[in-house]
Amino acid sequence: MSRSKELFEEAKKYLVGGVNSPVRYFKPYPFFVEKAKDCYLFDVDGNCYIDYCLAYGPMVLGHANEKIVEAVKEQLELGSAYGCPTEKEIILAKEVVKRVPCAEMVRFVNSGTEATMSAIRLARGITGRKKIIKFDGAYHGAHDYVLVKSGSGALTHGHPNSPGIPEETTKNTILVPFNDEDAVKKVINENKDEIACIIVEPVMGNVGCILPKDGYLEFLREITEENDILLIFDEVITGFRLSKGGAQEYFGVVPDIATLGKILGGGFPIGAIVGRRELMEQFSPLGAIYQAGTFNGNPISITAGIATLEQLDDRFYKETARTAKILADTLRELADKHNIKAKVYNIASMFQIYFNDKEVVNYEIAKQSEVERFMKYFWGLLERGVFVPPSQFECCFTSIKHDDKVVDKTIEVMEEVFKILK
Ligand code: PLP
Repeated sequence: MSRSKELFEEAKKYLVGGVNSPVRYFKPYPFFVEKAKDCYLFDVDGNCYIDYCLAYGPMVLGHANEKIVEAVKEQLELGSAYGCPTEKEIILAKEVVKRVPCAEMVRFVNSGTEATMSAIRLARGITGRKKIIKFDGAYHGAHDYVLVKSGSGALTHGHPNSPGIPEETTKNTILVPFNDEDAVKKVINENKDEIACIIVEPVMGNVGCILPKDGYLEFLREITEENDILLIFDEVITGFRLSKGGAQEYFGVVPDIATLGKILGGGFPIGAIVGRRELMEQFSPLGAIYQAGTFNGNPISITAGIATLEQLDDRFYKETARTAKILADTLRELADKHNIKAKVYNIASMFQIYFNDKEVVNYEIAKQSEVERFMKYFWGLLERGVFVPPSQFECCFTSIKHDDKVVDKTIEVMEEVFKILK
């Protein structure tokens, strides 16, 4: 028996389903990781995988980045939690404000989930309105307001709406299909002066990789402004990824509030809510809208965040986008060559393939993709040493460590896998 299987059997006795987050589970059992370096994961059975999951996004500099490791080691010696403010929080906040167009002020939290929960509370508190608009299949974390027709693990494992969430909590969450202007107009007309915010992933990264149609984000900006609705960009995936300033800089559309996470923590837990000063100042202790956390602004995560942002230079953006595009183009060519119905999408360091013959512009269409064929593709890659997230309702990422040699190896593996996909 493999060591991973042994560990999985043991894990199941103590950890629910043997894992601590549902996306980590796939049948018959996930491989257990011993260590990671650069773009490689090493499992407990001595296998090495080229990693395109990258911990679901954060590890854009590769695993165990030397500068982050050094900085964190140094900080560990100085203490790991103080319950008091530190200068490093200011340094990271300044970096965020410098980069992210809508950010005039920052509140650091511990995860993307906390960030979206507090951002929505902020929007509701400021507007005095209860209702929020969310897009079908968007994932904004695992809290109650937004776990309705949610993407990521909730979709992959078949529970897009979770039991245990009272109807009273989600009755104010209005769902609309992504990329559909009329649906948004209709909902706003039917709920005049009742909607606090629209929360949107500018690129949907939790049902694969769904791009906004030309002008769609601009449309959301205009209609929210006209109706005094706050626009929240959930940039937990796209932040610091699509460009230095995230999707808002990339598309040139500036929301009122944005949520950040993943890359910002350089592989350590973090989240952030950012926005215009007059909005952010409504948070406690200045304002009445409560937001707090023992580990908010944790010195380890903040240190890793500073060491990460320092390394995200022009070369980083150019290279990660270049390699992701090569892989996306390869997948498209292979699907054509082998006559397999597939659509491939790519932006900056993000890419994904859907086994689907329709253009995937929203959740309903994404859901029609062939799951069985995707799992064949996933296993074909994994058995040959390439790890992608085990669902087409997640996104693949490249890091700065995915160089030409690694990409060429991946292409070789993809070519072999497509031969057996029929
Ligand atoms: N928002 C988006 C767009 C995400 O992709 C995620 C996580 O995948 C979250 C929020 C939740 O972040 P976390 O898992 O750090 O709570």
